[in-house]
Amino acid sequence: MRVAVLGTGIMGAPMARNLAAAGHEVTAWNRSPEKARGIDGVEPAGEIAEAVGGAEAVITMLADADAVEAVVREALPALDGGVLIQTSTIGPEATARLAEQVPGLVDAPVLGTKAPAEQGKLIVLASGPEDARERVEPLFDAIGAKTLWLGEAGAGSRLKLVINTWLLALTEGLAEAIALAEALDVDPQTFLDAIDGGPVGAPYANIKGKLMMERDFPPSFPLELALKDARLALAAAEEQGLRLGALAAIAEQMERAVEAGHGKDDMAATIQASRA
Ligand code: NAP
Repeated sequence: MRVAVLGTGIMGAPMARNLAAAGHEVTAWNRSPEKARGIDGVEPAGEIAEAVGGAEAVITMLADADAVEAVVREALPALDGGVLIQTSTIGPEATARLAEQVPGLVDAPVLGTKAPAEQGKLIVLASGPEDARERVEPLFDAIGAKTLWLGEAGAGSRLKLVINTWLLALTEGLAEAIALAEALDVDPQTFLDAIDGGPVGAPYANIKGKLMMERDFPPSFPLELALKDARLALAAAEEQGLRLGALAAIAEQMERAVEAGHGKDDMAATIQASRA
């Protein structure tokens, strides 16, 4: 298939590469053009319209709803029968707005971070019109290990917020446990060893715990985007009359770490808000 990928950051670049490796003809556009260059098998495009023209599928993988809306506004006039697959995390409200503008929108946020994106092992939370399914499935097979089909557009974005609410709690809980261990003169590695493999352990604890202990935060999932997701989930909860107290506190901690200059660091850097 001819595919345009709009947004080649941490997630979009390996997704574009895997699509090309699976035999698709891939053109990529990125706001900072240098990031769209040098991706194996992928043709860079200087303009959105150049990437989108003639594409059978257009994939957006951008930071947030504002970015998606701005880019889609430019892409739409060049979209000639191609299907738009929105994979960024933008929440249900922005997805609903987008679905009004884009007939046949496929809402397909992904679960998995930099490494699974590089390995083509994302989990695709797909939703959209039934007749798009057959068309887009080969693309999801190229970027992911598994695709869940969830119903009408919007269902993917709703599930994504649920998953990230869990993920943020896991990360913040880990950060506070490690910060407390340090403060109580408990070796954080002993804490990780104690929970490893048991019912309260999590593979994620070892991955993010290592970064937290080493105070080294190469971005896999940037903290500022994690904070964006906390806010999206809080807004969606509020809309339903729910008060998610723990998530609100997590958002505040993350905000403090972002204000301290860790926005572009991995979300593990949220621990810096807990360190005295
Ligand atoms: P990233 O590396 O920061 O990339 C963000 C992309 O958005 C870049 O291409 C950036 O362009 C572009 N962008 C930002 N503002 C823009 C604007 N106003 N107009 C046009 N382009 C704009 O982020 P990422 O980690 O790939 O994440 C992308 C999306 O996937 C986010 O919604 C994130 O929440 C979601 N997600 C991330 C992960 C993860 O683990 N990283 C996992 C699942 C989902 P520039 O290069 O010019 O800045």
